[in-house]
Amino acid sequence: MTADLADRHLNLVPFVSVHHMMELVLEIGVERFLTELAAYIEEDFRRWEDFDKTPRVASHSREGVIELMPTSDGRHYGFKYVNGHPKNTREGRQTVTAFGVYADVGTGYPLLISEMTILTALRTAATSALAAKYLAPEGARCMAIIGNGAQAEFQAMAFKALLGIDRLRFFDIDRQATQKCLRNLAGLGFDMTACSTAQEAVEGADIITTVTADKQYATILTDNMVGSGVHINAVGGDCPGKTELHRDILLRSDIFVEYPPQTRIEGEIQQLDADHPVEELWRVIAGKAGGRRDARQITLFDSVGFATEDFSALRYVRDRLAGTSHYVDLDLLADPDEPRDLFGMLLRFPGSSLLAARRSA
Ligand code: NAD
Repeated sequence: MTADLADRHLNLVPFVSVHHMMELVLEIGVERFLTELAAYIEEDFRRWEDFDKTPRVASHSREGVIELMPTSDGRHYGFKYVNGHPKNTREGRQTVTAFGVYADVGTGYPLLISEMTILTALRTAATSALAAKYLAPEGARCMAIIGNGAQAEFQAMAFKALLGIDRLRFFDIDRQATQKCLRNLAGLGFDMTACSTAQEAVEGADIITTVTADKQYATILTDNMVGSGVHINAVGGDCPGKTELHRDILLRSDIFVEYPPQTRIEGEIQQLDADHPVEELWRVIAGKAGGRRDARQITLFDSVGFATEDFSALRYVRDRLAGTSHYVDLDLLADPDEPRDLFGMLLRFPGSSLLAARRSA
């Protein structure tokens, strides 16, 4: 394995496994990783118009969804393969698991293949915290987290790193999930409360994060639970027929989304008329639209996850990988001595049965 990605053999593709990703994240530090990743995501939102954009390609089944999320800025191309299967946890599997590819547009050759299960949790949390930087009430310290599964602690860490959130109020229908969060985040600088209802969890919270998994129109928050001035970070509703908020909350909120053609299909706003006004997050980040206007406004980030965020995450990982040993080189691309002699390469492969057949003919 070489130390510098630029010096590598042209046809070897670095592969970052789950093990390598954990090494990389822990070496950089979780909060620093989230902060730097958020800066990459912010930078790419600012140059939004450079990107090819399309709603992700989703293959739905009764149990879940498998999605492909492609984008390109004209120099590089990225895509993520990701699933969403809420019933998986009951069988000891992840609800969301993913991998991704980052490629050179000039040659079409992949430059990186990476696990993206951990990276998705990090990029989702970094994007949520980035949105909250523009939308949350000033001086916010306290966040409710409803849904205490795989994504929850990452959300907590990102909001601490980017906004200084240090009070957390947890609720999950499964108490063991809440206990897991309390255990995992102990000693990391949070004042934490386990709550017995969602209503109790949102009391006194400046920010409400909903990150539950259920394949239905759920009502995690009802209108009476949301007071003025709150910022809602709605992460769990990300598929047709899968939402978390009562429609009346949406009607009282200023709604910010990633890519409207995708969010209209998948986000909380699938409950609204197709022309209900929403603001695009990139426009706020680029200074073309306002974020929070006043202290009484309810802001809602209707997160579904967009391809540019995964592109930014792969771009960040590739930059941070240089000079480390947190990858292996994959022999992924055929490399005959003469590019058109692909068959000849097979023919001359040591022990080739084709050669043996020719000799005996
Ligand atoms: P998970 O299965 O690990 O955790 C989900 C948790 O929600 C579980 O602990 C479950 O008990 C809890 N829950 C379910 N219904 C609830 C309810 N009514 N009230 C309170 N808690 C409830 O899933 P995860 O990996 O943490 O993902 C959570 C959700 O976020 C999923 O729906 C996933 O699709 C979504 N997600 C969105 C993005 C994005 O970019 N917006 C990215 C990743 C995941």
